[in-house]
Amino acid sequence: MSVAFEVQGIGITDLAAEFGTPMYLYDGEEIRGRFANLRAELHDRLEVFYSLKANPNVSICSLLHTCGARAEVSSLTELVTARRAGVAPRDIIFLGPGKSRSEIEACVDEGIYAIVCESLGELELIDEVARERGVTAPVALRVNPSFSVKGSGLTMGGKPRQFGMDEEQLLKEHGLAARFPGVRLMGVQVYLGTRILGEETVAENTRRILELAERVGSTLEFGLEMVDIGGGLGIAYFDNEKDLDVAELARLVNPLIQEFAARHPETRMIMELGRFLTAASGTYVTRVRYTKTSMGEKFAVTDGGTNHHMAAVGIGSYVKRNFPIVALERLDEPADGPWNVTGPLCTPNDVVGKKAPLPDLRPGELVGVLRSGAYGPTASPVHFLSHGYPAEVLVDGGRAHLIRERDDVEVMLGRQRLFTHDAASTPA
Ligand SMILES: *Cc1c(COP(=O)(O)O)cnc(C)c1O
Repeated sequence: MSVAFEVQGIGITDLAAEFGTPMYLYDGEEIRGRFANLRAELHDRLEVFYSLKANPNVSICSLLHTCGARAEVSSLTELVTARRAGVAPRDIIFLGPGKSRSEIEACVDEGIYAIVCESLGELELIDEVARERGVTAPVALRVNPSFSVKGSGLTMGGKPRQFGMDEEQLLKEHGLAARFPGVRLMGVQVYLGTRILGEETVAENTRRILELAERVGSTLEFGLEMVDIGGGLGIAYFDNEKDLDVAELARLVNPLIQEFAARHPETRMIMELGRFLTAASGTYVTRVRYTKTSMGEKFAVTDGGTNHHMAAVGIGSYVKRNFPIVALERLDEPADGPWNVTGPLCTPNDVVGKKAPLPDLRPGELVGVLRSGAYGPTASPVHFLSHGYPAEVLVDGGRAHLIRERDDVEVMLGRQRLFTHDAASTPA
């Protein structure tokens, strides 16, 4: 008997038979446990907002909401998702460099906690929308700081960016609050990068962001109702990486929060997290269709590939590094050699695992990419070759629930219009 992957006691063979492949499978207990552990360690005053961008499924958002997470959204659909998941407007912030008028209108009409503003042009538009409605919109300023701190997978601060407003420019905008009567400046947000795996890096970011927030608030003369220190906490994907030590992180960050909180007893302090909350819970499950060799290398062609899991191609690196990839029904069997695990796309880049150590794969068996609960299908070219979105399944309370149906041909074609040349040449 081989050892098979299971989620809360339900075997992968049964899950794949019930829901089909390819699919994304999420373990609700993993998400709950991770959130609870983080909550237990972090300073009480630091509120955790879930960045829906990482996994926008409404049931994932709802699960995190029941755990106590608030919501950070970046599109109209994400805003509606958070509301349907039960998140109250006072616990939602909206962020993003290119908000539309209708998105800003929705923020104002819903009465969300803060619109995180990323440019002076946007501030003007928020002001206009609010005054049309005879209200004052709560606005936090996203700042692109002059400094950057090394240690994240993708660094955001200290360089030319489309995000936020440069610290240097902003600090010259004396009287900014008075120029926009429809706006109440009430907070500062800074996001310094993603995939951070160093506890010291997070602490250093936090220290500098809190300093910056005080500088911005006092120079522009508005009270800090909120400070959002970003987040960007990572999880280990690759061989040489190590997960963050949450207790150590808390040991370094909590005193900074405590000190700031003592000086600003009314200020809400926010950390935004996407990947850290959902990534470890998810497995991308595919089935091997064919195996073959080419010029001495072994290939397993599966029913899903980078159309659903673009991140597996390799993140921020020229050398391909594999996500953890396993033969889901034979976890205990030793690798028999390097396998290239590829998908159904007609491009040589459709490689989910390159020379991955796996047992001798056979057609029909299941292969899984672990730690795939964040930036999966939502950040992948799911329409490529018209395969569409995969199914998503959440196991919670010991039972499996379909939380997204896979796209089918009618879904894929339903939004297209058939224009025929015959119709064009026939006079109306
Ligand atoms: C993407 C993003 C997040 C979430 O990032 P993670 O690394 O997934 O936690 C949070 N805040 C902002 C501003 C972002 O752009």
